[in-house]
Amino acid sequence: MSEHRTGAPGRVKEVTSLANPLVKDIKALALKKFRDQQNAFIAEGLKLVIDALDLGWTIKTLIFAKSALGNQAVEKVASRTVAASGDVLEVSEKVLSAITRRDNPQAVVGVFSQKYLPLKDVRPKNGDVWVALDRVRDPGNLGTVMRTVDAVGAKGVILIGDTTDPFAVETVRATMGSVFAVPVVKTTPDAFLVWRKGFPGLVAGTHLKGAVDYRSVDFSNKPVLLLMGNEQQGLPDDLAASCDRLLRIPQAGRADSLNLAVATGVMLFEIRRGALTLEDRS
Ligand code: SAM
Repeated sequence: MSEHRTGAPGRVKEVTSLANPLVKDIKALALKKFRDQQNAFIAEGLKLVIDALDLGWTIKTLIFAKSALGNQAVEKVASRTVAASGDVLEVSEKVLSAITRRDNPQAVVGVFSQKYLPLKDVRPKNGDVWVALDRVRDPGNLGTVMRTVDAVGAKGVILIGDTTDPFAVETVRATMGSVFAVPVVKTTPDAFLVWRKGFPGLVAGTHLKGAVDYRSVDFSNKPVLLLMGNEQQGLPDDLAASCDRLLRIPQAGRADSLNLAVATGVMLFEIRRGALTLEDRS
């Protein structure tokens, strides 16, 4: 490992060996055990890293490909990383491929500290929408739900029970950057049920046996908590019983149910219908 200066202020370490201990630690983040041990996760791509820094996430390490040397945006991000006391590694394509497990890796990868919001800090106001997911298993589903929560302007996601990791590489990829914009709460079914008693609005569960058409409900002028069931088993009885309404999305054809992320998307766009317009967002 050598050290030198680029256009970015601060020291940049040049790494070409897969045996380098810093690289080994970052590669280990592919496994949940090491993500939890290091309280860290990986996000790929320059735009994501810039968004994360802008949103106040703590960067531990910035990794960039030799080919990105001289790119002003990359050097600016390197400076911001150094200013935040993070490490900056300039690596070979081989090292980047090993870290991302991809043949054509992005030129920039960031290692960030994980962040969860405590359940007690979720205090919804009128118009706020939260999504609670019961034991979500599939990282693609979780990432897609987080992206959709972000897209509709809902406030965040509550993960109940034994769930897939919001900071897994596949989840983060599926969020397309929304991992940095959407607060995530992790809780147990018992703690959720206690907290739910104080929820000041409508708790809307979705269920294949729901008697109410989701389009017949007025979601306006109140906080809404949308509760979605596990991919295989749907909502267990205790969580279903805690809902004010059990809603169903009518279906035709042979499919038994919708995919969890699709059902969440359908519900969220209905709940947020009055709040979304085509007007310029900037
Ligand atoms: N076999 C599971 C069951 O019996 O509930 C299917 C679960 S489905 C793949 C995952 C979740 O998506 C459900 O628990 C529910 O929250 C939601 N969902 C899917 N299709 C739905 C529909 N047509 N109406 C209401 N909720 C639906």
